[in-house]
Amino acid sequence: MTGSPLPSAGFVLLDTRSLNRIVDIDAVDGLVHVQAGVLGSDLEEALQAEGLTTWFSPQSLDRSTVGGWVATRASGQFSSRWGGIEDAVVCLTVVLANGAIVRVGTPPRGAVGPDLRSLFIGSEGALGVITEVTLRVYPLSPVALSTFALKDIPSGLEVIRRLMQSGVSPALLRLYDKDEAYHLQAPSPGSAPILIAGFAGQEEIAAAEQRVARRLLVDAEAEDLGPDAAEAWFKNRYDFSRLEALLDKPGGYAETIEVAFGWRRAHGSYLELKEALRPRSDEVLGHFSHAYSDGISCYLIATGELDTDPAALERLEQIWRVTMETALACGAVISHHHGVGTARLPYLARQLGGGYDILTTLKHALDPRQLCHPGSLVDPEGQGKPPCGL
Ligand SMILES: Cc1cc2nc3c(=O)[nH]c(=O)nc-3n(C[C@H](O)[C@H](O)[C@H](O)COP(=O)(O)OP(=O)(O)OC[C@H]3O[C@@H](n4cnc5c(N)ncnc54)[C@H](O)[C@@H]3O)c2cc1C
Repeated sequence: MTGSPLPSAGFVLLDTRSLNRIVDIDAVDGLVHVQAGVLGSDLEEALQAEGLTTWFSPQSLDRSTVGGWVATRASGQFSSRWGGIEDAVVCLTVVLANGAIVRVGTPPRGAVGPDLRSLFIGSEGALGVITEVTLRVYPLSPVALSTFALKDIPSGLEVIRRLMQSGVSPALLRLYDKDEAYHLQAPSPGSAPILIAGFAGQEEIAAAEQRVARRLLVDAEAEDLGPDAAEAWFKNRYDFSRLEALLDKPGGYAETIEVAFGWRRAHGSYLELKEALRPRSDEVLGHFSHAYSDGISCYLIATGELDTDPAALERLEQIWRVTMETALACGAVISHHHGVGTARLPYLARQLGGGYDILTTLKHALDPRQLCHPGSLVDPEGQGKPPCGL
């Protein structure tokens, strides 16, 4: 998604796939302890056999590892209720550049200085190698799904804002603009934005939450389309084949870029991003799929076909440039869950301000010889040198 696992020439590529043991499932404390190379789908299979789940479900579940989730600060489809990976990680073990093996995290909560887990959640390999992770687990339950056609995007965003600020915690909230809804509802698409909502957990609470959501949606003049489109999405939610088929064609391109905004700017910023991408793509699809009391993520998919692969690559560079510049100008967060990688590195210092100096100082302190993923998170030109002013 961002180029973050790509090695530079002359460096060693570390493969974590043999760190594949699920060490312990503790249903009493609600924890699972795993090695970092465990694949998401293997973890879920083992947990679900015991009636448990992490409720952490990125679209890449069957092709990404627990360590990768932590390293990229990933988020899953049920984040509106169970949060991002930062809410799931209880402890983690990291091998630092000097060979020290350190376990950080004080479950269930600690007031013993800053939370050191945060240093490694989103560190993209730059501060050490994550080898073990303890995650929270919960009882597995069915997800009750509904689909609604919305009058427009602002009314859909307003319903989600009101839900998230009222203490209702839907497991799933996905608002698709009409361009993406068209593909989602194929072969019989409508022409309106649609909202997929899902409620899970304790049955009586989930039913009550569903009633509140329905009331807000009726007030917003949304039309209940029944569960079919939502259930079809749920069944195919790890399928990326439409975009993969396009990428396989010479000159075919598909880029997915996610950002996040506060509520006040959400609709205007979404419109600006779509407008910026439209001249550079055959199609620009958009959805909002991770909601908070103070804002929401926005996921844009720009696709097209050019004559050759080099032309497509140049177009992708333009797409990244225009999206990042527009997002920064709108005051958005430039990544909601895919991380920084090489694609966003040129924009990171502008996003973080003085925080980028802290990051560079931490890199220098923990990895003075630049052994851990050189070029990741910290600009290689500045590596090894403490930044000015710190
Ligand atoms: C089809 C598709 C759908 C996706 N859907 C989602 C989604 O819904 N939500 C989401 O958040 N992301 C999604 N992603 C992005 C990606 O899958 C996630 O970011 C995932 O967390 C990466 O895990 P990975 O094991 O593949 O890591 P990699 O891609 O191999 O590595 C990613 C980065 O993490 C570092 N890293 C990996 N493992 C470790 C470790 N053990 N210790 C230290 N550093 C490490 C690497 O150095 C690299 O910088 C998707 C990707 C694809 C291709």
